[in-house]
Amino acid sequence: MITEILRTRFGFDQFRPRQEAVCKAVAEGENALVVMPTGAGKSLCYQIPGLARGGVTLVISPLVALIEDQVLRLQSRGLRAGRIHSGRSREESRETFKAYLRSELEFLFIAPERLAVPGFSDMIRKHPPTLIAVDEAHCISQWGHDFRPDYRLVGERLEGLANTPIIALTATATELVQRDICAQLKLVNPKLFIHGFRRDNLAIRVMESLPSERPERIIELLTQPDAVPAIVYAPTRKKAEEIAKTIGRKLKARAYHAGMVAAERDKVQAAFLADEIDVIVATVAFGMGIDKPNVRSVVHAALPASIEGYYQEIGRAGRDGKPASANLLQCFSDRKTHEFFIERDFPETSVLLKVLKHVPKESSIYRDGLQARNSEIDPDTFEKAIEKLWLHGALKIDAEENITLTEGPGAEAWRKSYEDQRKARLAQLDSIQAFTGGGECRMLQLIRHFGDRTDATLKCGICDRCAPTSDLRVIDELERVMVTSTLASLAGRDGQAVGRLFEEAGRLDSRITRSGYERILSALARARMIETAQSEFEKDGKVISFRRVMLLSAGKNAKAKDLESLEIDGPSLTAGGARSPAVRKRAKKAPASSSRTSPDPEISSEIPKLFETLRAWRLAEARKKGVPAFRILSDRVLMSLCESLPSDEESLLQVPGMGPKLVRQYGEDLLRVTSTSI
Ligand code: ADP
Ligand code: MG
Repeated sequence: MITEILRTRFGFDQFRPRQEAVCKAVAEGENALVVMPTGAGKSLCYQIPGLARGGVTLVISPLVALIEDQVLRLQSRGLRAGRIHSGRSREESRETFKAYLRSELEFLFIAPERLAVPGFSDMIRKHPPTLIAVDEAHCISQWGHDFRPDYRLVGERLEGLANTPIIALTATATELVQRDICAQLKLVNPKLFIHGFRRDNLAIRVMESLPSERPERIIELLTQPDAVPAIVYAPTRKKAEEIAKTIGRKLKARAYHAGMVAAERDKVQAAFLADEIDVIVATVAFGMGIDKPNVRSVVHAALPASIEGYYQEIGRAGRDGKPASANLLQCFSDRKTHEFFIERDFPETSVLLKVLKHVPKESSIYRDGLQARNSEIDPDTFEKAIEKLWLHGALKIDAEENITLTEGPGAEAWRKSYEDQRKARLAQLDSIQAFTGGGECRMLQLIRHFGDRTDATLKCGICDRCAPTSDLRVIDELERVMVTSTLASLAGRDGQAVGRLFEEAGRLDSRITRSGYERILSALARARMIETAQSEFEKDGKVISFRRVMLLSAGKNAKAKDLESLEIDGPSLTAGGARSPAVRKRAKKAPASSSRTSPDPEISSEIPKLFETLRAWRLAEARKKGVPAFRILSDRVLMSLCESLPSDEESLLQVPGMGPKLVRQYGEDLLRVTSTSI
């Protein structure tokens, strides 16, 4: 039956993975929660069972644009779909509703607030649909990343329809949000279908990078082969402009955000879709509409606010199934920016209480009057405060902005609900930070985050955890000292805060920077020697959160030689690329053989210079060949060359890391560089 509907009414040959199972269960009257990524084909999961059950399917969807799009698609397939929302005239809505009552429709789409219109829900209860579909269901949950107040009451309003099965659908819900959706919609024994989060062609990398370094880093990333077309996500409009400008020196790049006039934006988007520009630098809020199958990479120019949002954004790379990459540039201080926004968007409970106290018990008050009584609160915060109080049910505000207190048993519940939501935002930040610091396969971390238990073991093999290549270099001496002391300190006391460990490291050597230290932690996490986790404590009524570091068994048992080969990302701690402080003077032209077995402590101060010269040669070579520099020779080999100072082909062959092939390819060049620079 359902297969027949798929063929005859939709014209598709076969189901996509999981669609059939969902359709079957829902057609049989089960309640269901479907969590599958965008583009997986969730719409069919309610459309086919709706048709199979006969009667009308009531579809609740949060956005008018989505409703219009879906209705058009269905109508173009000859299906009888209607919609009622604020964008349509009373007359049109009345006609549609009449058609519903006469059972002429197969689908009726409504926006959630329609359920609040007196009379509408009553009529629906009297003429119940045979299926209810709640699309974008994550909007129902205040734990979700896109909570919509109009969705808040959907569960309650559907209560009289207990006999009608409900299917809730979303592309983005953590396990917490999944539970919340089921609870709010009062789904009895829902069948869970949570699948399809793995992306086989997407190589995920996370890189520590200071904000000031990022534009250059992005140029580096996007000038590699097959890196464009690309979308760069910037945290603010201003940053989007800045980045577009800087990388515009090397790439055809344009900013794309809500601050631009629509015509200009459309032009940029059209040019990007037509491959006339390589890179679009979008704000997170605005990169949503871009649907281009051949996007080769997505770069995040800052720590995203949540894993859910991040996953959606990286999902725009490689829709054509060909290899694509997702690069995230971030550092510890990015968290502060998010905390700033959270503080701005969620005023302290005490502020809300103050506003609430000024609302009269017996009568209502105009918004302006209430604001006048709270003149010590700045206008933006006041605005936020009443919005939150309304959202969480402490106040009623009508269209004219008359404000009254909510009565009844629920009147006190707002506080917990509000504080929970604030905490949820911070928890999302914790999750994304844990993701960036996590030592495990990136794809697996994401899949687990979405609760897909059926696909939680296979590593992707291509992320920076599974296949750490590229910019990684072996740690230098100073870094090794830091690694050793960090592990020792943790062995003495496990679970210390990152800040404390950093302080301790600073006492050991003042050259260490916070981001340099974060890179060391990241290297240890990658080697599965440590793990970081978010923690919090309360101080003066404020919740302060911090990261602690836990020693794993590989870290406890690490031997000196494990540490020597530890690989790290980014520039050396001893700024300027000079490794001199770790590499002390040695007599010039020491015999190559002696330095190979045990590096001579008296290393020449010329070495940093030679090292830089070699790097410059390597870069030129890489450009000539169109490959990343590390593919020519690793930093480690360059360092060995500096230490050994080979004078002929034979001594060159003795340098660790050099082989006959490399000698044949680069021998002449290398000998020329090493002999002329010292
Ligand atoms: P989602 O809601 O999960 O983001 P949609 O339901 O909008 O995804 O479907 C995405 C696209 O996939 C649509 O163009 C749809 O027509 C198409 N599609 C869905 N199921 C199938 C199928 N079984 N065979 C072919 N195309 C399909
Ligand atoms: Mg959809």
